[in-house]
Amino acid sequence: MNDPSPRKIEPTQTLFENFFESSPDAIVVTDGNGRITNVNSQVERVFGYTRAELLGVPVETLMPERFRAAHPSHRGSYSDKPSTRPMGTGLELYGRRKDGREFPVDIMLSPVETSRGAIFLSVVRDISEKKRAEEKVRQSEGQRQEREALRQANAYNRSLLEASLDPLVTIGPDGKITDVNAATEAATGYASATLIGTEFSDYFTDPEKARAGYQQVFREGFVRDYPLELLHRDGHITSVLYNASVYRDENGNVAGIFAAARDITKRKHAEDSLRQSEQRLSSMLEAVRDYAIIFLELDGRVASWNKGAERIKGYRAEEIVGQHFSRFYRPVDIANGKPDRELQVATSEGRFEDEDWRIRKDGSPFWANVVVSALRDASGKVSGFVKITRDLTARKQAEDKIKRYAEELKRSNQELEQFAYVASHDLQEPLRTVSSFSQLLARRYHGKLDADADEFITFVVEGATRMQTLINDLLAFSRIGTRGSGFAPVACEEILQIAKDNLGVTIAESGAMITHDLLPALVADQTQLTQLFQNLFSNAIKFRRREEAPRIHVSAVRQDGAWHFSVRDNGIGIAAQYFDRIFIIFQRLHGREEYSGTGIGLAICKKIVERHGGRMWVESEPGTGSTFHFTIPDERRNYDEPNPRH
Ligand code: ADP
Repeated sequence: MNDPSPRKIEPTQTLFENFFESSPDAIVVTDGNGRITNVNSQVERVFGYTRAELLGVPVETLMPERFRAAHPSHRGSYSDKPSTRPMGTGLELYGRRKDGREFPVDIMLSPVETSRGAIFLSVVRDISEKKRAEEKVRQSEGQRQEREALRQANAYNRSLLEASLDPLVTIGPDGKITDVNAATEAATGYASATLIGTEFSDYFTDPEKARAGYQQVFREGFVRDYPLELLHRDGHITSVLYNASVYRDENGNVAGIFAAARDITKRKHAEDSLRQSEQRLSSMLEAVRDYAIIFLELDGRVASWNKGAERIKGYRAEEIVGQHFSRFYRPVDIANGKPDRELQVATSEGRFEDEDWRIRKDGSPFWANVVVSALRDASGKVSGFVKITRDLTARKQAEDKIKRYAEELKRSNQELEQFAYVASHDLQEPLRTVSSFSQLLARRYHGKLDADADEFITFVVEGATRMQTLINDLLAFSRIGTRGSGFAPVACEEILQIAKDNLGVTIAESGAMITHDLLPALVADQTQLTQLFQNLFSNAIKFRRREEAPRIHVSAVRQDGAWHFSVRDNGIGIAAQYFDRIFIIFQRLHGREEYSGTGIGLAICKKIVERHGGRMWVESEPGTGSTFHFTIPDERRNYDEPNPRH
């Protein structure tokens, strides 16, 4: 049947039903008790129930269980003041499907008055899509913020990188540079744009080693202080130590290497020159043969050993390094704690010096000069010692020998003097008898025997007299050392005057002229000093040249802690070959007929000078004159105290 007119239905009802069914939203109708009285097909779709299943059940069936208990009271308060409004403003509302799945919803509640009482329309909209869209927006905002944070962090990292004076570089897993800082540009001479994307190892003197380095980083995660040499574009080289580690992406996969190079060129130079100078020093120490130069640890163990030490002490380095240095000491010194004491003194005073016996490896002793100095570290703490030893055994032996000789000489001289004194003294007595009786014989029997007898007696008398003179001279000579008087301050000019007075007649007869410079006062034996000048004056007068009156001049200068006297004459002079001989007792250059004397004068002079601690010698030119020199120290410690009077 063809029905051209629309179905005749009650307009309002039809409209509502049309709207109800075609609404895109799910609409649930409940009665005053909250029971479902109707649902549209959207409800079936959205909630997964059939209409039949829902009719008559409480509306809470469509809610998640956790909201169900509280809902009836909400419902109650709503029906007291019903109005059309969104439900649960400010709350997150959820629907619950038959299969239990929940989904976010908006709900619009409208009360409707009907003849059968109030009913409620709940228009339910699934807002999952909307929520997802919102979430997306939120997420993308979060990502934006994250990106911003990342950008800031990157900028921060970049400025950190750039602030570093060390060349920093990041390298990809393929070994290609992914980023560099300015310090790397400076060290290589290339711009970052050039560097990035190129092979990292190409910028080193030893690319193989550089590759091995970053392979090690990939393998082990890091390297520390990996030494390499960066090659600058202009050819110069920077010695660096690399510290590198891998960095990872957000999934924990290795993304590359971060490598930091420390420029150690300066340090290397310093180290090189230090090493060089250390080498120089140690080879120098090593080569020194006359000194044992050894380093000791703080506790006295030997730390180093040179050739000299080996030569002097007999140990080779490998035998002795690590041993305590006390083994170079005699058992008695070890027992007395000497080795440790030396280190203590070196520690407190900085230095210790000693001369004593030490022991070689073979047990033989040697006389050592030892200097121990404390070595201090940068903080001033003693860190060890350097010990320098010289073997002075030969010198010591020579000194000891000389000392022994000197003592022997002194003793034999004393014995000789004693002998000469005793002999001359004791010989005088019988000689006096011979002399006086021969003189008596000569007086009484002269001319009464024959001519030969007279001559013989004369010889005996003369011989005895000469012998008396000699013995007197000898006695006088021996008395210089044994019978001298004490030392006292004396004025030389006074002494000169006394000597001149004693020689008054001789001077007058010869017409001698004696002059002098300003002369000092000395501590001396006055009598002997007088005799000294007197002997020299009388010789100068005796050995004068016939054609000239004797002229004698005395001068004195201060020299090396002594007064140096010169007595110059204008006499006959002495040939150079006799300069020493004339000072020997009884040695003369002339016969008695020519010049009187016994040859004792200068021997006595020399002995007097030596007793005063000085020296005596002569300078002369035959035919012109002689100058007799002698020194008298004015500090008396250099010579022996005069012997006490007998
Ligand atoms: P003597 O005067 O008894 O000979 P000396 O010991 O005084 O003994 O002198 C030793 C020798 O030195 C002298 O014999 C003389 O030959 C030489 N002699 C000493 N003094 C002088 C002098 N002033 N000029 C030259 N010859 C001198």
